[in-house]
Amino acid sequence: MCGIVGYIGHREAYPIILKGLKRLEYRGYDSAGIALYDGQDIKLSKTKGKVDDLERRVENEISTNGSLGIGHTRWATHGVPNDVNSHPHYSNSGDLVIIHNGIIENYESLKKELTNRGYTFNSDTDTEVLINLIEDIKKSENVKLGKAVHIALNQVVGAYAIAVFDKNKPNEIVVARLGSPLAIGVGEDEFFIASDASPFIEYTNNAIYLEDEEMAIVRRGKDVKIRKIKDDSLVNPYVQELQLNLEQIEKGGYEHFMLKEIYEQPHAIKDTYRGRLSLENAIIKMAGVEDHMKKFLNADRIIIVACGTSWHAGLVAEYIFEDLARIPVEVEYASEFRYRNPVINENDVVIAISQSGETADTLAAIKLAKSKGAFVFGVCNVVGSSIARETHAGAYTHAGPEIGVASTKAFTTQITVLTLIALRLARAKGTISSSDFRMHMLELEMIPDKVEKALASDDHIKMIADTYKHATNCLYLGRGYNFPVALEGALKLKEISYIHAEGYPAAEMKHGPIALIDENMPIIVIATKKGHYEKVVSNIQEIKSRKGKIIGIVTEGDSTVKELADHVIEVPETLESLSPLLTTIPLQLLSYHIAVMLGKNVDQPRNLAKSVTVE
Ligand code: GLU
Repeated sequence: MCGIVGYIGHREAYPIILKGLKRLEYRGYDSAGIALYDGQDIKLSKTKGKVDDLERRVENEISTNGSLGIGHTRWATHGVPNDVNSHPHYSNSGDLVIIHNGIIENYESLKKELTNRGYTFNSDTDTEVLINLIEDIKKSENVKLGKAVHIALNQVVGAYAIAVFDKNKPNEIVVARLGSPLAIGVGEDEFFIASDASPFIEYTNNAIYLEDEEMAIVRRGKDVKIRKIKDDSLVNPYVQELQLNLEQIEKGGYEHFMLKEIYEQPHAIKDTYRGRLSLENAIIKMAGVEDHMKKFLNADRIIIVACGTSWHAGLVAEYIFEDLARIPVEVEYASEFRYRNPVINENDVVIAISQSGETADTLAAIKLAKSKGAFVFGVCNVVGSSIARETHAGAYTHAGPEIGVASTKAFTTQITVLTLIALRLARAKGTISSSDFRMHMLELEMIPDKVEKALASDDHIKMIADTYKHATNCLYLGRGYNFPVALEGALKLKEISYIHAEGYPAAEMKHGPIALIDENMPIIVIATKKGHYEKVVSNIQEIKSRKGKIIGIVTEGDSTVKELADHVIEVPETLESLSPLLTTIPLQLLSYHIAVMLGKNVDQPRNLAKSVTVE
């Protein structure tokens, strides 16, 4: 998500910050802004749009001298992308200024308290609440900026990387990190601040990476003082010597955005349920669902409309909604639905899924459903997107920007959001027992670690990719919850390696595709322990008798499939309903490695666009 940059030293801050923001553009963003201290006052300029737009604006609006400044590229989470919501944000007095990446989850209650104390807010952001909380503490407790930030962060729930400065103390920047990255570049009498090292790599190779729950006071011409946010204890700064070049850094050291995004999934899934699932209180809460609970509970059925990978996430949701919440579900290709004169009525709930929130067919399907009186709920990643605006309510996936054209973390986070909704509705309808509900929550909380474990098979998967990279056809089979995963696995391979692949429900194989099987055909079979395991094992036997090459995706410790298959890739055990979040990981990696080995353009496959804004 987005980027932050800061500078304090002896050079002009503006060109360093501007160039730094450009370097961070790859992270994806919707607005940009900058605040400079000119020796007397803070000069601030910000805009919706690109860093180039900011540059034009700055030149018209403010003087750009000064050797202290901060800059931001925003990827909106709270409040639509517009000029006012862009960062930096002032405190009410105008003395303090902040940039922030991440989400302050308890911003609403903090905002209420601050409003009661007389504070006013210009933007809809959670960030403006934080800077005023810092100001309030600074004034009421009569403490310095660093102390005020420290106290404030102990009241905050959420994720952040922040940089703050005070115009009355223009010799320091206070920074902190929890869940969002923050690096401090250490130069000769100068310091750089950034989300990663790319903005400062040409000035210094020395960097301090703040750990989670650490804050630092960076003092001009002096030093960096790091403290733990929880107990205020001092931490010795560890200065690393960077061995990286620019290109590597922008992709976080990964060769491609797709790989980076595959690896971001543990974090992205956590960000998706963060603040919505509370194991402690045994509740799942999502504003968009709570506000329209009646609509959901009275629904005759749920119609899911989507395209591509999102459609596959919708298919997974069909299983989980019907299984847990006992609501009938239909999953439709938006492009078919919109032209089919479908039967829709006022008791239908339509869920539209789209990473970008701009998918033209899905948008048209939404308009059609609304015109027939249905309640429409959106599941998107990009805040403020057309679908987010067009729907009656919705839930964001909070996956962070997805740049690789082949969708990866969008898929798993969509499934996460849809699972949360299904669980919430099941609880409200009483179709799930409290112990089952708890178990699902518990298991969901363990998914990020299990995804991490699934990712650890990467080298093994690479070897399998090498064996099959010259295949011209591939079959993907799965049953139940893992049938849509088979479809998604096949789509990933097609998209980036241009190898023909098909996904099928495993039992359908004998109604046609089995005729294709010979010793040249790799068949990827999802055969996890829970969910029709014996049946899938029989399907594997059938493939083996026809000499097909079998790659089994199995539960850790499986021995039966191991004996039958040519290769197995293990994933940790979980509930069947959550297994798609794990089984999809090796399929993403397999496609990725095959495409790389074939020399394909993984991040921008031919003929494909990231968000399909045309029919
Ligand atoms: N939550 C903040 C906002 O919506 C920061 C978003 C970001 O990480 O850019 O403004």
